[in-house]
Amino acid sequence: MKWLQTTEKVQLLGIFAHPHDLTHALGTMGNHIDNGDGVTVAILTDGGGTHNERLFEELRKDASERDAGVTEQQRQEYTEQKYDEARHACSLFGIDDVRFMGYPDKPLRSSDEIVDAVADLICDVKPDVLITEVPEKQTRSRTVSGGDDHTMTAAIVNNALVVASHPRQGQKRVPHKPARIYYCAPSEPNDEIDVYVDISKWEEQRIEAEMSYKSQGHTRAYARQRIMRNYGHYGWCAGVNLAEKFLRGNANVTSLLPVTDLDLRNSKGSGIDRALSVMGDDYRKDVEETIRTGS
Ligand SMILES: [Zn+2]
Repeated sequence: MKWLQTTEKVQLLGIFAHPHDLTHALGTMGNHIDNGDGVTVAILTDGGGTHNERLFEELRKDASERDAGVTEQQRQEYTEQKYDEARHACSLFGIDDVRFMGYPDKPLRSSDEIVDAVADLICDVKPDVLITEVPEKQTRSRTVSGGDDHTMTAAIVNNALVVASHPRQGQKRVPHKPARIYYCAPSEPNDEIDVYVDISKWEEQRIEAEMSYKSQGHTRAYARQRIMRNYGHYGWCAGVNLAEKFLRGNANVTSLLPVTDLDLRNSKGSGIDRALSVMGDDYRKDVEETIRTGS
């Protein structure tokens, strides 16, 4: 597989809309940290208008019963909590370069300022691999006229990539163009996915990362269910225990067609082998006994 994965160490940059969005690529970024690669994460918005479940619950109450401590909580106090949660989630995967750009969300709006700030970020980090949100043109759901922070993030990043890669008179930044772009695609249909990344070894860390978002009401039981249902389902489709999903933003250039060890393993086993490679060998004895006896 040496010809498939460069032996050079690479720099990753993940640019996401909200503080929780980075979790959808956490296992992948953790794999790269373990490979000796560099990983930087940037969050475009402060997340202040997103997932404030506590405020939601208070506002549902009669006005006379609301807790003013919750309804009057300053946005900065809430966003600082989100930042701490995101930093903790990243730390579980060895990611310590986490940058919060602090733009308002719901909705995130594009501007020359934010595009320039993201271009500066790209030229500062100089990523070989850039991960970001799925652009609107690649979503297959109903067409909407903007208003989604994730597709807006992709639009801002795509504009910033143009700015970052072209020299301009009077600017200090050195132009930079990532080698590969991947769109983090947890909500895309499985038959649209270009790359599944095996993140099985991070099961416990992924659950703990999910739990760290207390502002969104994530308990241990909730976190375990969410990871096993979502990433377990992606893994089921990929023939591994847990997987993350990506779309390619540009094409690979290679001298041989990409075929991975996991591609070969998945193709050679029986249906049962594939299921056991997802669920683990603990089930093998019972399954083989059932096949042998037919009962
Ligand atoms: Zn989000």
